[in-house]
Amino acid sequence: MKIRIAFLVVLVGGALLLGGSACINNEPVIKEWTKVIDEKKVHYMTIDGIMVHETDPAKQPLPDIVTPGNESCDAPSDAIVLFDGSAESFKNWTDTKGRETKWILKDRVMEPTKKSGLIQTKQEFGSCQLHIEWATPENVKGNGQGRGNSGVFLMSTYEIQILDSYENITYADGQAGALYGRSKPLVNASRKPGHWQSYDIIFHQPTFDKDGKVLRKATFTVLHNGVLIQDHCVLSGGTGWRGPHAATEYRPHPDKLPLQMQDHGNPVRFRNIWIRQL
Ligand code: MG
Repeated sequence: MKIRIAFLVVLVGGALLLGGSACINNEPVIKEWTKVIDEKKVHYMTIDGIMVHETDPAKQPLPDIVTPGNESCDAPSDAIVLFDGSAESFKNWTDTKGRETKWILKDRVMEPTKKSGLIQTKQEFGSCQLHIEWATPENVKGNGQGRGNSGVFLMSTYEIQILDSYENITYADGQAGALYGRSKPLVNASRKPGHWQSYDIIFHQPTFDKDGKVLRKATFTVLHNGVLIQDHCVLSGGTGWRGPHAATEYRPHPDKLPLQMQDHGNPVRFRNIWIRQL
């Protein structure tokens, strides 16, 4: 009997360890504390026992590498085409203040320029199915978070990380396909730098009560190059930066908001973006 119980403990412990902060549709255990470092308060968080932005793969194993198949996905008949390479569709986008964007349209592809800031749709969206294609620079510069960094922000708020994660190690919950700081991808399905990649995202927005408390958390299902990397993940909170080892909390927001892409100082290119409202 004793041996059996010990075996069970090992099994459950192992499952918890392997779970990491990849979302498996359960309610994660979140612990928070602060430490004073150089007279500054620094926030720390763990999700299911693993620190946010943990860099030690012994504590936060990196996702296995999977080689994706080829081919992308054209817009279905009922989708809203947000960008198809035409100058007309480029007019669907502005900067975050609704002014003309400093991103450029070149060879039917759009990309940020120096300090151009985020780009966003004129139209606002809530729950949706989104298809988006992106390519990090072929000419590799920088490393970790500094290499081919961008991001897709659903409702201008929840970031699915875009990063050149091909043979480029960074913390698991910040690599390509991570719900930044909240959930690492199940596997690493990255293509080589310069190659076109896709995300297919099914997003259900969070709901809030009249006092701004979360009634229903957001959920994400994400395919990266056709490979499932977030499996109906219940987003445990916000994805914003709150120091090196903590993420922002949910904050109430309107029912519909623009879709945004990040300018993180790297010329990440975009093409073929379409959305279906849910
Ligand atoms: Mg980013």
